[in-house]
Amino acid sequence: MSIVFGPVPSRRLGYSLGIDLLPPDHKLCTLDCIYCQVGCTYAKSLKRGLPVPTAEVNRAIDENLPKNGIDVVSFSGSGEPTLHRDLGQFIDRVKNRCRTPVVVITNATLIDRPDVRHDLAKADIVVPSLDAATQTMFEKLDRPHAGLRVDRIIDGLEEFRREYPGKIFLEIMLVKGYNDDPAELMALRRAMDRLRPDKIHLNTVVRPPAEEYAQALSPAELERIAQMFGPAASVAGPPPTANRSPDDDDLETRVLEMIRRRSVTLEDITKSLGLHKIVATKIVEKLIAEKNIKRVVHGGVIYFREFY
Ligand code: SF4
Repeated sequence: MSIVFGPVPSRRLGYSLGIDLLPPDHKLCTLDCIYCQVGCTYAKSLKRGLPVPTAEVNRAIDENLPKNGIDVVSFSGSGEPTLHRDLGQFIDRVKNRCRTPVVVITNATLIDRPDVRHDLAKADIVVPSLDAATQTMFEKLDRPHAGLRVDRIIDGLEEFRREYPGKIFLEIMLVKGYNDDPAELMALRRAMDRLRPDKIHLNTVVRPPAEEYAQALSPAELERIAQMFGPAASVAGPPPTANRSPDDDDLETRVLEMIRRRSVTLEDITKSLGLHKIVATKIVEKLIAEKNIKRVVHGGVIYFREFY
């Protein structure tokens, strides 16, 4: 997998050129969320290190930026980006090369650390997630590294809100039978009152999750919960549409790259790469025949995911 990927359509951010700071061969994260679309985390870590060599990331940034037709550059991907200790330096590098807003999508588990807050503060928008405000639910839903306490994460987020002048779009992933319980929602609501994010995005399980039992809430349930969180809250909408021409790159490789990062629908592929449906269908059929990818049905929708 390449370090820079996309652009991919994002429901929150428009067209996003992604930078993945995590290793290509295994998922590295502080959590093992039951709904994770990347799959299970087999080795959780809290150590900030160099999961991808800094020189490789710098080279990828220099080769890909600036770039036209994107709304944001986002540090995201197949794990937790704050686990790379040079995150702050990479944000500086992107900002020196283009004026496109920089976003970091983080699970916020290390935000009680001053060095992590210092790095995140360089971004224009930070998208932290917080799925639970009680330790019991945090452990059930996000299956954290044993060293993590949700009260410390909330304290860290509050500190970051005080220090950071940029935008915070906080994301809550709601899973049926887990954090949709009234007491859990009330605890989250109290946390939001402390954290004062600019926006609160409510999501549910849309793509195939790490655990099949992680189920989605209905649109009506999501709307009802959004009311509880006040005017800053909204339910995440569909990704943007676009009429784009495909680049000259090898399309098959680009489709495979997309699918390796997360399960995607045919529509995701056509919109993201600007392909006609017939062309995209031919490519996925070929990748299925070669056993590179497979079809998975989730919530009545067909997704394509890596064959493993
Ligand atoms: S959903 Fe995000 S935070 Fe949770 S395990 Fe997957 S990559 Fe980590």
